[in-house]
This record gives sequence, C-alpha cells and structure tokens, in this order.
Amino acid sequence: MTEDNSPRHSVDANLEVIFDEALRESVKKEPRPQISASFYPYAGLSSTIRLRDGRIYARVSDLLRPSPREVLLSLARILIAKLYRLKAPKETERIYSEYASRPEVIEASDATRRRRGYKITSPPRGQAYDLDKVFDHLNARYFDGRLQKPVLSWSQRPTRRVFGHHDGVHEAIVISRTLDTYSIPRFVLEFVLYHEMLHIKHPPRRSGSRSIYHSDEFQADERRFEKFREATDWLEQIAAPSRRKKRQRRKR
Ligand SMILES: [Zn+2]
Repeated sequence: MTEDNSPRHSVDANLEVIFDEALRESVKKEPRPQISASFYPYAGLSSTIRLRDGRIYARVSDLLRPSPREVLLSLARILIAKLYRLKAPKETERIYSEYASRPEVIEASDATRRRRGYKITSPPRGQAYDLDKVFDHLNARYFDGRLQKPVLSWSQRPTRRVFGHHDGVHEAIVISRTLDTYSIPRFVLEFVLYHEMLHIKHPPRRSGSRSIYHSDEFQADERRFEKFREATDWLEQIAAPSRRKKRQRRKR
C-alpha cells in the first residue's frame, strides 16, 4: 500500500495531537511509538489502526473530520485500546457510538458507501479486454464518436448479478471483472458497456419523486445494438446460477 503519500491521505496535525493524548493515557511506559494519523476517504465510518516498524498508523474516516474533538478523542481511545488489547472506558464507547448513530451521520456514511463502493478504480486494461479500446470502438460505431470518455474501470471483485454501473456523480463506468475473460465473447462485454454508455447519452429524467433511468428512448437505443438478443441471452445465462441461489435463499 502506497497511499500514505497521496494528497487525499495527508497526515493531520490536530488529529495526531488527539491520538497522542489517547496514547499517553493508555500507555505509561516510554518510549511510546510515534503516531501518523490522517483522515481517509473510506466508504462508511471505518477507521483503522496498526503498528508498523515502531510507528502507529491511524486512519479515521474523513466523515468524522467535522465532528467535535470529544468524539475524535473517544475514537482515538477506542482504537488505541484495540491496538494494545486494553478495554476502552464505557463512557468513551458511549460518546463515540452516540455520535455515530446520529441520523445525519448515518445518512452521510451510507451515501459515501454507495458512492465510494464504486469509486476505487482499477486500470481499464484488464486480463482479456481493454475497456478503453472497447469504448472507442462503441463510441465510433453507435455515437458518432461524440460521447465524452468517463473514467473506465473494472470492478474490484467479480460480480454475478450486476455487470455494469454508471456513476453519474464521478463520471465513471465500472464493469464487472466477471466479464474480463476470453470465455465471455467480446460482444457480451460490448453490450454491457454500451448499456452504461447509454446512461451518459440519456441522463436520468425526473418524474415526480422518481428518476427514470431506462426511458423508452433509452430502451429503443439499447435494441440498436447489433447482437442485442444474443447478448441479453448470454447475460441471463451467466447470471442464472446466482439468481437461482437467491430464489432458494428466499424460500428458506
Ligand atoms: Zn442501466
């Protein structure tokens, strides 16, 4: 992991002072380890701590950046206690969990989870297919080359139900790693990417309180794909096992 140097992950002097305070309370014996503490754009309210080469590295969800000092100190005490296998005071746990369970904090946490779950990108060139090249081909063929190229990425993990995702907030398209293999015909991957590209061409429309993502125009365009039938059949085949499992799970 090299993200310790990335600008999004710069150490925070105030946070280090807080962690140092928590460390001094718990660990009386000197010398104590040095601390690097930073806010990190985790999905959700995660925070981590570890000891490496005699230095403590603490990362706190950047959602907590605006929280009161008392809350950050409580979290620091909890993490330090965890690192040294001590028991954090009850009061400490209470302060932190009360803050973390506030509706607005939960809401913000869920929102980042939704967004950031897909934000971690990996290069468009996969094992079998290069999303950049496939995009250029589709763009020329179906969009007169006029579509702006978003960030293209393979998903971190294979998925069996969702094969593509267009993230309008970050202008990114993420394609399931499941499709990055020669056992999947190229036109199947092309169709999945084509669908996500149509989301750029047809931005969601508001209809009352709902958003329409797959409008009639969208669906008409989708059927213009040369091997529309074959591609949809393929995708149903690949998705079938997990759908079956899901049905069984529901029955239980
Ligand atoms: Zn869609």
